[in-house]
Formats: sequence, structure tokens, C-alpha cells
Amino acid sequence: GVKSYQFMLRTKNPCGRVPNKLYLVMDDLADEFGVGTLRLTTRQTFQLHGILKKDLKTVMSTIIRNMGSTLGACGDLNRNVLAPAAPFAKKEYIFAQETAENIAALLTPQSGAYYDLWVNGEKVMSAEPPEVVKAREDNTHGTNFPDSPEPIYGTQFLPRKFKIAVTVPTDNSVDILTNDIGVVLISDDVGEPEGFNIYVGGGMGRTHRLETTFPCLGEPLGYVPKEDILYAIKAIVVTQRENGRRDDRKYSRMKYLISSWGIKKFRSVVEQYYGKKFEPFRELPEWEFKSYLGWHEQGDGKMFCGLHVDSGRIRGEMKKTLREIIGKYNLNVRITPNQNMILCDIRRSWRRPITAALAQAGLLLPRYVDPLNITAMACPALPLCPLAITEAERGIPDLLKRIRAVFEKVGLKYQESVVIRVTGCPNGCARPYMAELGLVGDGPSCYQIWLGGTPNQTSLAKSFMNKVKIHDLEKVLEPLFYHWKIKRLRGESFGEFTTRMGFDKLQELVEKWEGP
Ligand code: SF4
Repeated sequence: GVKSYQFMLRTKNPCGRVPNKLYLVMDDLADEFGVGTLRLTTRQTFQLHGILKKDLKTVMSTIIRNMGSTLGACGDLNRNVLAPAAPFAKKEYIFAQETAENIAALLTPQSGAYYDLWVNGEKVMSAEPPEVVKAREDNTHGTNFPDSPEPIYGTQFLPRKFKIAVTVPTDNSVDILTNDIGVVLISDDVGEPEGFNIYVGGGMGRTHRLETTFPCLGEPLGYVPKEDILYAIKAIVVTQRENGRRDDRKYSRMKYLISSWGIKKFRSVVEQYYGKKFEPFRELPEWEFKSYLGWHEQGDGKMFCGLHVDSGRIRGEMKKTLREIIGKYNLNVRITPNQNMILCDIRRSWRRPITAALAQAGLLLPRYVDPLNITAMACPALPLCPLAITEAERGIPDLLKRIRAVFEKVGLKYQESVVIRVTGCPNGCARPYMAELGLVGDGPSCYQIWLGGTPNQTSLAKSFMNKVKIHDLEKVLEPLFYHWKIKRLRGESFGEFTTRMGFDKLQELVEKWEGP
């Protein structure tokens, strides 16, 4: 018989923005052509699993015609641009989100092939802001392939996928330091946008037992005035395009280029394409993780409501209820970088009926979700991802229950929490190397354990133990959580505690452990 190939399809939604109509269409497509569930991703997009090859064109054209896109969601080019999902009507949030949209437009492939293929050449693209077109076409500093339909990418595109996030000071809902480029809006005293701090060289992917591959945090590159941001971004992308390694995909992310050159050389090469010097990086306040769960004021008289979605998988009763609410009230939706969802633009008078509908489906915060689950993330892994070597999404509900049981056994309170992230392989899609407890697939039914991330996502975890069998996790976690409980300093997070103790000491505690 004919083999029926199945496809995974990923959308592109800068800032996680999902117009009302697109949500309803995705919900239908999941039932009609997919596996009946919608998956929210850590890059604020949808994934549909199980699309058959014969249905691909129907699905793609339906998405495109309903203001969605999949263009640039996969491949060696700029991926979905992250920005805080909260629909705050504040100037800085709006400006950061617009910047993310402009960066996404700047780095979208230009060739018409995509539209030829899926919608028979119909132009369904919305008009681009003139400053984006200008920045893309500008070749003053020799950045472009002037004769190519792809002035920035040329025919070779980039050495590897490329990730960008934009945010505002303190709001680290986007895991800013894990991106190839992290952009932070700087405003003046009265909140007027002035320019941007730029971090470069973040990235999670690595390979087991190959020390020359590593997760990396972005480091400060410099500051640019707001009108220069697209040119600065382009100069960084071009520097990676020209110099990133193309001979070995393991080393082709921009972080390896920066680590081999050092930030000074990297900066000076970028400055040649940018045509200016970077100004000194502006001082920033502390980062905070923001979940946006529950009810909030938007600031324009309307409200928004953040909903926790386990591993980003919308299914069953939740899927049905969300569809009803989103359809009935015509709500726009946003996807967060933590695989959660925000219902936007809710009138005050709708709050009560929406709360009632959510409660009836068991979706009312905080009761339906364990605090451990609020910051937890897992990648799709088995059976959906070809790179997976062990469970993540399917395994995390049970893992969280077991960790909750360990918490109870060692006497940690229900409201206490640690950031737990699980992935099926070292590629690190759910950013496990930023977790306080990261579990990274390391062989069938085995995890590598990473410790030392912080609740605000600003430090890199380190690998603590290899090849721990899933059923042996308690032997490691009990002593760690017990000693955190009795030895921690005031307010010390689990991640800070494991870093302060040092891994040798922790190792010893695990080896000598005989129970609390
Ligand atoms: Fe697949 Fe690995 Fe990414 Fe998980 S981390 S989705 S297993 S590539």
C-alpha cells in the first residue's frame, strides 16, 4: 500500500498573537485533519500533529487565508520572534510587540515560492511597514545579496535556526537570555521608548558527552537608538550568515561563533555591517518571571485572563470550553512562551460568565493546577519528535506527582515551588538548562539531571548527574529537597541553594542518603 506520511506543522505568530478567527480555524483543523489536539509551543506558536500529506495543502491554505502563517516556522532561518504575550495597553509593551513584529517581517523569506505552493500564488500577505522594507533593502554596508530575491538570506539562508526575543525591563516571560538575539526596550523617565539593549549568543542545544557543545546565556552587545534597531539586527544576522560554521551543524549556532571569537571581535565585525559603533549597554533592573495567569487589567478598560495549559496541549473538555468562550465573545488569544494561553480583550461584564464557564470545565485558577506545574515545561518528545530518546510531555504529569510526593515526604509546603523542565533529548526545546531542576533525556528511560537555574531565568544550570533511571529519581531528589528545606537561607530558591552548596557536597548528600 501507499505509505501515508504524517506531518507536523508549526505556525508563526510573532508575540504569540492569535486573532480570533485564526484560533477558531486552528481548532477546526486539529479535529478535521490532525489528532484532535492543539499544541502550544515554547516559541508562542501552534503545532498541529498528524497531518496527512494529502491534506497538507488544504490545511496550509486555510491557515494562510485566515491571517496565519507557517512561513519561517522551521528551517535554517529566523524562527518565531518572542515578545511578552500580555496584552497590556502600556506604551512600552505595545512598542516591544511592534518591534517584534517588525523584526519578524524583516527576516521573513521574500521569495514567492511559499505562496505559489500553498495558495496558488495568491498574495495574502499583509502590507509591510515601509521602514521594514527600507531596512531589508538597504545595502549601504554590503550586507545584502542585491540581485537575489532573498536580499538577506541569499540562496544559502543561515547556518542554522536563529532565535530572537524582544521584551521590556523586568519582564522575563520570554526567557530573554536563551535567544541568539535578546532585545530589551529602554524608555525614558516618562515611558517614551528611546532605544534597545541587545544581548547576543544565547542558545540551549547541545550534544551529550561532547563538552565542546554547551548551552549558553546571551551576553551584552550594546545599546542602539530605537530607529536603528532593524539595521542592528540585520548586521548581527549577516555576521552569523557570513561567519557561522556551516561544516558541522553541532557547532553552527551563533553562540559558537561568539565563543570562538570573543564578544569584542564579534562586536567589531557586527559594527562594520551596522556602520556605527554600539553605545554602552544600559543598566537594567532585576529580571522577573511573569506567568500572567489569572485575571488582569489591560489598562484600556478591558481585561485579560491567563490560563495554564499542561505542556501546552489543548484537548478534550478544555478544548471544547475554550472554543465556546473564544467563539462566543469573539476573543483574541495570545500564546505565552511558557506554553500557556491568554484570553484577551474581555469586557468587564463578561468576566463573570467566563469565570463560570472556566470553573465548570475545571479550568479555574489556582485550584486546578499544582504550583509545581505552573512553571513546569516539557517538550513533545515521544512519540512525536524524531530526536526524542525518552519521554517528556507524556511523562511529566507522573513526574510532577512524584516530585509532589517527595515534597510532602520531606515536609516542603504545597505553595513552595521549583522550576522543573523536561526534554526528551539534549536539543533542549523546553529550555531545561535554565531550570532549577532540568531533566534531559539521556538514553531510554534515563535522564541527565541539571541543577542551578533560578526562578527568574537568569542563570544557566549545570549538569549534575548522568543516566539516572526514571524510577530512581527519588533517590536523588529526596536528599536534595530535604537539605534545601533544612539548610536554605531565608528566601533562597532551590536553584540558588544547589549552586551555593556545590555539586561535590550535593553528590555526597545523595550517596549517604538514608531517608529524612
Ligand atoms: Fe524533540 Fe529533543 Fe526538542 Fe524534545 S528537546 S522536542 S525530544 S528535539
